[in-house]
Amino acid sequence: MLNYPEIVEQLIDELRTLPGVGRRAAERMTLALLERDNDSLAMLGGIISAIPEKVWRCPECGAMAEKGELCEICSSPRRDKSLLCVVEGMPQLFSVEASGQYSGTYLVLGGHISPVDDRFESRLNIDGLQKKVSSGEVKEVILALSSDVEGRATAAYLAEMLANSGVLVSRPALGLPAGANLSFVNAATIGAALRGRTVENPE
Ligand SMILES: [Zn+2]
Repeated sequence: MLNYPEIVEQLIDELRTLPGVGRRAAERMTLALLERDNDSLAMLGGIISAIPEKVWRCPECGAMAEKGELCEICSSPRRDKSLLCVVEGMPQLFSVEASGQYSGTYLVLGGHISPVDDRFESRLNIDGLQKKVSSGEVKEVILALSSDVEGRATAAYLAEMLANSGVLVSRPALGLPAGANLSFVNAATIGAALRGRTVENPE
């Protein structure tokens, strides 16, 4: 059995950490990259290493944005600032956008609460959510979290936190498959779930 040079093995290990990439796929990608010429590899490396100086989290909502600017959604005058959709991360934000059924703004949490994590309050963008809610602009917070255990725990925590905040708290209607990450649910399902959302804290 032939061993790869050390740096090649390192690249395979890094690629394997990406979603949906197993050992064999990571090896195929790495071998394809090794076919490229030096300039092409340098360009790819340059793009990856430039990400921290070109991209940041939108200071309003935590979504991905050009560094120094608000994200496209927060800076758009066409988005309804009275609606705030809380999602775990960018894949979920893109899924809700793909449904074409949502014209409000977002709050990207940056993860979910897991049972073994007692530092989630500093890790997640909970301050950002509280700031948004206390701004007075938001009338309804939609907790569009996954229907797995962590997503449900996160939604329950946030619903409790916001129960007496004076804003409506709602959740998308059931129908998202249990254990499914929202990012894998198709656009039509998300659209229907958003339209049929239920209020958590009725007057
Ligand atoms: Zn934003």
